[in-house]
Amino acid sequence: MAIRIVGGGLAGSEAAWQAASRGVPVTLYEMRPVRPTAVHKTDRLAELVCSNSFRGDKLDNAVGLLKEEMRRLDSLVMRAAEASRVPAGAALAVDRERFAEIITDTLTAHPLITIVREEIASIPASSEREPVILATGPLTSDALSADLVSVVGQAHLYFYDAISPIVLAESIDRLKVFRQSRWDRSFRNAEAPRHIMTPAGTPVAQDFSPAMTPVAQAAGPACGVDDGEGDYLNCPLTREEYEAFYRALTTAESATVHDFDKERFFEGCLPIEVMAHRGPDTLRFGPMKPVGLTDPRTGREPYAAVQLRQDNLAGDHFSLVGFQTQIKWGDQARVLRMIPGLEQAEFVRFGMVHRNTYVNGPTVLAETWQVRSRPTLFFAGQMSGVEGYVESAASGLLAGINAAALAKGEPVSSPPRTTAIGALAYYVSHANPAHYEPSNITFGIIQALDPSRLGAGKAPRGKKARNEALSARALADLQEWVHDRTSQSVSAVSRA
Ligand SMILES: Cc1cc2nc3c(=O)[nH]c(=O)nc-3n(C[C@H](O)[C@H](O)[C@H](O)COP(=O)(O)OP(=O)(O)OC[C@H]3O[C@@H](n4cnc5c(N)ncnc54)[C@H](O)[C@@H]3O)c2cc1C
Repeated sequence: MAIRIVGGGLAGSEAAWQAASRGVPVTLYEMRPVRPTAVHKTDRLAELVCSNSFRGDKLDNAVGLLKEEMRRLDSLVMRAAEASRVPAGAALAVDRERFAEIITDTLTAHPLITIVREEIASIPASSEREPVILATGPLTSDALSADLVSVVGQAHLYFYDAISPIVLAESIDRLKVFRQSRWDRSFRNAEAPRHIMTPAGTPVAQDFSPAMTPVAQAAGPACGVDDGEGDYLNCPLTREEYEAFYRALTTAESATVHDFDKERFFEGCLPIEVMAHRGPDTLRFGPMKPVGLTDPRTGREPYAAVQLRQDNLAGDHFSLVGFQTQIKWGDQARVLRMIPGLEQAEFVRFGMVHRNTYVNGPTVLAETWQVRSRPTLFFAGQMSGVEGYVESAASGLLAGINAAALAKGEPVSSPPRTTAIGALAYYVSHANPAHYEPSNITFGIIQALDPSRLGAGKAPRGKKARNEALSARALADLQEWVHDRTSQSVSAVSRA
């Protein structure tokens, strides 16, 4: 009975602690400092790569609830965070050096944990008595990423997250833009030709059929490029405007996010400037394609168009569809304000591209964080499709508990969806795989309160009271789950 864990970040460290606390010997493989990543700066375990904040710490806040659940499950990450806490109001922020030092020292001193500094290039063999947890994070090394493809399939492994810019609705010039859905008439009538892109981002022959060709299906709606559904605000460009925009885009200064630009981009999420460098018309076949749109001012299809999609319920934010970019922010504002309708645009957020290796959770994982097709292998942390420090550590916590149970011949399980940890596990394994995106914990993914269990007139009034009621229920349900597990493991021991 033993567990191998690959990756000594937030998830891997927590998983190692949980498994070893249950009496299972653990070997933890961490490639730093033998092989560094583009972002980590030290050789410590559980290094925080960016902010030093674990976000809100109150029970009217979903991440506050998640942390409280982790404390109740004796999380090492939470212990270290408390011990290295710095003043941050209602948030939990830490001294990053001290935090990583506590985790490194605790795991190093643990008699059941062996730490090996080595890059693991292929997924180790696993069995019921010797399960493996992969927790190599958003910066999983290239060799291991390549091997991951063999387990999850290329289509279910993502390499980059791309963020498109968002503008304030009130700063859009409504006299220049028009509201319309692409394909509105042409798609349904199936008469007008459609341009499609290969997965390599190069335009291919026009498609005259109403059905999506295999190539178009494979490419999918790249990074949120209009899929023909819903209304958009369209910014039409004349040929002269497009050419001026193209020149500005291809000469703008690109931000070099570490070495990410030297690496392979996920073809469905190419930055617009990378697409532009492939040829003057590539954008007109991609995110700036005008087909299916009619400018009401001219009665004709524009030469090119940029689409804006409502980005929040209030309707005061619009994102530029398929406009992920890593142009430096100053230049980004200058170039994007050349788009008709956006001359006075105020940016709520600029576009960014960053490395993020993660799997399509609902296709690959069960809610115990086991790989469906290979239950002796677990994924945990950011690569399993969660987002954020706390969420990554929480997934490592559950993967560690379940891997230890498997190794000991005990049942595996996940807390109910009424808890934050259970809700996260459920989201990762049951969200819509077609539009899967890693998620932070929110009350939105936790099972809603059941009015029939509350009694007449007992429904909490207001958001804060409702969230506190959700938290109270979560903590009670978590306690019950812990109790059930303890009795199951006791009966497994007495059976043995
Ligand atoms: C640039 C950047 C900034 C971020 N900023 C924030 C932020 O401010 N707040 C936030 O909540 N989240 C942030 N994140 C997300 C953050 O990375 C995760 O929340 C968290 O670190 C994920 O934990 P993890 O354990 O999954 O991965 P990590 O903490 O990255 O740990 C993975 C470990 O695996 C090791 N490893 C990789 N490949 C191998 C291999 N083949 N063999 C052995 N070891 C290997 C790595 O060296 C690393 O130590 C950021 C991510 C990036 C990329």
